Amino acid sequence: MYKFISRQSQFYNLTYQNSTNAFKYAIARRLFASTSNESEYDTVVIGGGPGGYVAAIKAAQLGLKTACIEKRGTLGGTCLNVGCIPSKALLNNSHIFHQTKHELNSRGIDAKDKAVTSLTKGIEGLFKKNGVTYIKGHGKFVGTNQIEVDGLDGNKSIVQAKNIIIATGSEPTPFNGLEVDEKQIVTSTGALSLEKVPEKLVVIGGGIIGLELGSVWSRLGAEVTVVEYLGSIGAGMDGETANQFSRLLQKQGLKFKLNTKVIDGSKKDGKVFINIEPAKGGDKETLEADVVLVSIGRRPYTENLGLENVGIDVDERGRIKIDSQFRTNKPNIRCIGDVTYGAMLAHKAEEEGIAAAEYLFGGHGHVNYDVIPSVIYTHPEVAWCGKTEEEVKETKKPYRVGTFPFAANSRARTNSDSEGFVKMISDAETDAILGIHIIGPNAGEMIGEAVLAMEYGASSEDVARTCHAHPTLSEALKEAG
Ligand SMILES: Cc1cc2nc3c(=O)[nH]c(=O)nc-3n(C[C@H](O)[C@H](O)[C@H](O)COP(=O)(O)OP(=O)(O)OC[C@H]3O[C@@H](n4cnc5c(N)ncnc54)[C@H](O)[C@@H]3O)c2cc1C
Repeated sequence: MYKFISRQSQFYNLTYQNSTNAFKYAIARRLFASTSNESEYDTVVIGGGPGGYVAAIKAAQLGLKTACIEKRGTLGGTCLNVGCIPSKALLNNSHIFHQTKHELNSRGIDAKDKAVTSLTKGIEGLFKKNGVTYIKGHGKFVGTNQIEVDGLDGNKSIVQAKNIIIATGSEPTPFNGLEVDEKQIVTSTGALSLEKVPEKLVVIGGGIIGLELGSVWSRLGAEVTVVEYLGSIGAGMDGETANQFSRLLQKQGLKFKLNTKVIDGSKKDGKVFINIEPAKGGDKETLEADVVLVSIGRRPYTENLGLENVGIDVDERGRIKIDSQFRTNKPNIRCIGDVTYGAMLAHKAEEEGIAAAEYLFGGHGHVNYDVIPSVIYTHPEVAWCGKTEEEVKETKKPYRVGTFPFAANSRARTNSDSEGFVKMISDAETDAILGIHIIGPNAGEMIGEAVLAMEYGASSEDVARTCHAHPTLSEALKEAG
């Protein structure tokens, strides 16, 4: 304890002259240090994913004595271990494989596990640097200020905390009647490490995860059929963009069965048979597959978290209920990320992690839910931010659309990678940008500029009058403006 306080006083002395914020934090550290008892934390975060680890680091940086409980044995959550990072590594490597195989005549692989290990270890380093205690084990509420930890080392302990942030994430939604074995009937986790390329892969669900992983295995040689209940793919993306996206994926060999419902399935003689029928009813059909990927969405993960022990409310979909400051119905317990409302995206969870920690500290958190970007990392990539044209139409307000094709962009032409377009939707009266939709090379990087423009309340004319370097892909954004 003495060490802790004296370290804080040094910090206080060092920062006093330099910065108002640092001064505020130093005072807080001293205050918290003098009121905490040795074993009690100011903040404990349950879950070490992008929401949880970011919240823990931010809370520690704000001067709170912080611990993070994670049961997986590695930090980074779904995102780093079985989500964003391994899927992008596979997408990148399968793209290179595809290019090498099919495009070597006209032009001129690091394993995914390596990326995952170095990134998860990187977070452990950040925890050490920022003074966050990393507790390896499963956390369960036994009181509004007590969490029982079932340690990975086999020991049980109680962690005491003034404030708790729940960041336990999500898990794949199961499909009734199809039992996942992660070999033949797989979730995204199994699809990230299939032992061999399946001859036939059926993907149930044409959302982001299904299309990304479907693309990976298609590039590696699988015949991929995506079955989607709705009339379009891409999880609610702009209709015009979804049509173009679907055409481009079909050109790459993916097959789509839209407006189609999966009834059930069974395994026989090493194959999986999936029974389908038109969504509105009609003739049934059976699809044969070597592997079936169930990707019909994700659901909040609160298994054995002990929510019932403290009476935390969840909604009908299992999402933990929160107010605008991420507080559950127990005021000292907040909740962020996939396990509560909103888009299940790593960067959304991270923003909430920062904001929740800032609220804890007595400040003001800020997440602008109107400008959370979405990206599909296929090739070409699809990225968007703000409203789709369909959503804008529903408002019945006049709007304008500016579209610019990559076929007319010099950089895209030079790179022989010119499929897709940039579409900018703006308010016809004020010219404020309402939505930006990009399908094309590096769309996921380009959307950053769109997000910044929207965050700053730019008009489409502002973007059009901003000088963009030539030759770059981002000139297409200017032209759409
Ligand atoms: C295949 C795939 C690809 C994806 N690609 C992208 C992408 O490209 N971009 C993007 O933005 N998002 C992507 N996502 C979504 C992204 O991974 C999630 O939105 C993000 O990880 C959510 O962060 P989180 O912190 O809320 O939860 P999680 O990352 O799920 O972390 C929660 C952590 O809490 C731990 N935990 C749970 N309960 C307990 C407990 N009781 N005690 C201790 N620990 C516990 C879990 O072990 C887990 O590590 C992808 C997801 C998948 C599955």
